[in-house]
Amino acid sequence: MELRGVTKEYPGGVQALAGIDLGIERGELLAIVGPSGSGKSTLLHIVGTLDRPTSGAVHLAGHDVASLGDRRLSALRAQHIGFVFQAFHLAPGATARDNVADGLLYTGRPRSVRRRMAAEALERVGLADRMDHRPHQLSGGQKQRVAIARAVVGAPDLLLADEPTGALDTASGEAVMRLLHDLNADGATIAVITHDTEIADSLPRQVRIRDGRVVADTVRTADAKAGVSAC
Ligand code: ADP
Repeated sequence: MELRGVTKEYPGGVQALAGIDLGIERGELLAIVGPSGSGKSTLLHIVGTLDRPTSGAVHLAGHDVASLGDRRLSALRAQHIGFVFQAFHLAPGATARDNVADGLLYTGRPRSVRRRMAAEALERVGLADRMDHRPHQLSGGQKQRVAIARAVVGAPDLLLADEPTGALDTASGEAVMRLLHDLNADGATIAVITHDTEIADSLPRQVRIRDGRVVADTVRTADAKAGVSAC
């Protein structure tokens, strides 16, 4: 994923992003961190290809997003990007297993295969014994683990987690962050969007944004291959 000179202006003249350069490499675990109003959600929408920039370029897996129509872009997004949101966004009437299996609908795989893959993903997040529970029968932390299983079941190239611990108590939040670290150790590329500097500090790379600009891009030296870079 590569952003070059990305700006976003909303109607009324609000410049939410004022020229963002950002590259995300395979296998990274990074935080995009900034205070409220700094442009995080706007950036998440553009990195997630849910919205298009006013100017600048966005490349995803070798594709120039601007050159794709909405249908091609939706297909590319489904194939390459998994989303996790603060509020879980699970289907209330469906079991954990069906919620996760629905993450594979776009693949056209038969239902039996989707359900088998969903079971494996739920095992991966430690919920093998909760497959048939519906969201209201799960704790907040368990719901978020179901949402993470749904986001990763199709093995996306990039997992975008928007304030994934924002609705959780401390212990559940720590468990979710441990899970994200484990998935990253297994090869997943993960960007966590957060206003919480403690969470950001716990990740190998932090991209700090303020007033729609990247003000620092730091690789923790213990994890660094290339040291610290600042923009
Ligand atoms: P954050 O997620 O860091 O709180 P946002 O990306 O939501 O920041 O917002 C960045 C700026 O853009 C803010 O000034 C906000 O008020 C403005 N903004 C966000 N969404 C819209 C919108 N749909 N229309 C107009 N202004 C918006």
